[in-house]
Amino acid sequence: MKSLVLERKGELSLRDFPAISKAEETLGPRDVRIKLHTVGICGSDVHYYTHGRIGPFVVNEPMVLGHEAAGTVIEVGQEVTHLSVGDRVCMEPGIPDPNSKAARLGMYNIDPAVRFWATPPIHGILRPTCVHPADFTFKLPDNVSFAEGAMIEPLAVGVHAATKARVKPGDVAVVMGAGPIGLVTALAAIAAGCARVFVSDIAQTKLDIAASLSPAIVPVNVMNDNLVDTVHQHTEGWGADIVFEATGSPKAAAQVFEPLAPGGCVVMIGGQPDPISYDAGAAMIREARVENIFRYAHVFPRCVGMISSGAIDVKPLITRTFGFDESIAAFDLAASAPPSDVKMQIVIDE
Ligand SMILES: [Zn+2]
Repeated sequence: MKSLVLERKGELSLRDFPAISKAEETLGPRDVRIKLHTVGICGSDVHYYTHGRIGPFVVNEPMVLGHEAAGTVIEVGQEVTHLSVGDRVCMEPGIPDPNSKAARLGMYNIDPAVRFWATPPIHGILRPTCVHPADFTFKLPDNVSFAEGAMIEPLAVGVHAATKARVKPGDVAVVMGAGPIGLVTALAAIAAGCARVFVSDIAQTKLDIAASLSPAIVPVNVMNDNLVDTVHQHTEGWGADIVFEATGSPKAAAQVFEPLAPGGCVVMIGGQPDPISYDAGAAMIREARVENIFRYAHVFPRCVGMISSGAIDVKPLITRTFGFDESIAAFDLAASAPPSDVKMQIVIDE
């Protein structure tokens, strides 16, 4: 039973990991036990590896990484009716307190008590099996692979962002950043009805992948081209109805209102570890609506549905796949941020 353990900042090992508590491994009546199959490497996993912390969450003890997962149900709690042994599933990694005020108000993702995989002190799922609430476990149709199932978690961020933006058919959007989250946001915006989505970045290989996803995507390399000018050329000088900020870069975030049309909406997606400034005057003269998102809520079934129907294809985003025994090399490669990679995945169960 090997697990991928972050021992401390900068040190990973693939080893037996008995530290997962009995309570965590005990199957409750509304839980399922899952044999993990495919796990995606997220920027947050890599950040814990390279920095040992994200904001207030500090790795003080060895922690198993990974939160983007698909697998197979191998045991079912007594009260579970919608899942059976053998079902292929994906899992929502954040477990709120169902009785919390946030959960009762329908905003369970911002429940301060939420327990989220691979966020200290909660262990992730780069390990053979896990126990998870059935309510946060979703069956994959036969035509959705484990690799696609492990993409549901990042896709959920994009779908939540498009939902918060309230995309209307024919809207024009900008997505700043062509990383995994930027690209799933572009896909979600198109699925929600956008006529055109401008995706900006400085890495041409990522922009080439963006352009290959849909004829509605216009890649903009901001090393060579001015994003605002490009958007204005296509919109008769009006601007974009929606700007999604998915870089997490303070410099990009400072410019979010520039390509925005009057009355438009900005959605802040990229994590900002430190306070940043933005141009409140530019927001005011547009009467801009600003939305912030934190992870997602109530969107996993929608994501599964869109992948199954073909409305969204995430396969081109999976640029590299590793075996479980190559996990440490995979993380070292991910930490070097190769410009030609979007999403790397690890297959635990071959
Ligand atoms: Zn993630």
